[in-house]
Amino acid sequence: LFAGEADFIWAANSLKNLPPMSKVEIAFAGRSNVGKSSLVNALTGRNTLARTSHTPGRTQQLNFFNINDRFHLVDMPGYGFAAVEKQKVQAWTQLIHDYLRGRASLARVYVLIDARHGIKPVDEAVLETLGTAAVSYQVVLTKADELKPGELDKCMADTLSKIEKRAAAYPEILPTSSRTGFGIPDLRAGIAKLLSE
Ligand code: GDP
Repeated sequence: LFAGEADFIWAANSLKNLPPMSKVEIAFAGRSNVGKSSLVNALTGRNTLARTSHTPGRTQQLNFFNINDRFHLVDMPGYGFAAVEKQKVQAWTQLIHDYLRGRASLARVYVLIDARHGIKPVDEAVLETLGTAAVSYQVVLTKADELKPGELDKCMADTLSKIEKRAAAYPEILPTSSRTGFGIPDLRAGIAKLLSE
């Protein structure tokens, strides 16, 4: 699935310039610095994708990549960063709301959470938005290598307790580390399964 091509195809900063819904879309979202670029790189086995998304001017856009003609990976803008937090979150919320509303081709959103920090209020707001739009999502913990096994278990349990009541949430948390490769095969398998459904 990830062995072939992975090409940047589209950037959108508003509802008006989303690409046509030609393929299944799988999106990745998370706070700035959560490790989204690293995870997308680890997942696809190349670093051009996330580098593109980190290009100035691209960081607040939805960036679309064609993965082997099988699906479109959507790199969503990072949210919750520093001083402009509120304003950025508002802009981000608007953009994803626009994107999510009526986007029939969107199969799943992976919401990335830093395992060291767990779910923060700004993440809760995003989960709320996804829930309202009835978009199915799965929580992925990043940087699991930073935690001791006991700490990771606790983080998994805490995170699960925060999403349990949310109907749109996939009831399983996926711990990963881009640094060690931990959990990446499971993420790939989850995507493959989704595409085969
Ligand atoms: P983004 O802003 O969400 O795209 O995050 P990046 O992928 O650029 O990563 C942000 C920071 O976290 C960088 O300093 C990375 O080296 C670090 N990082 C990313 N993934 C991991 C990981 O799996 N383990 C550890 N320990 N650090 C990571």
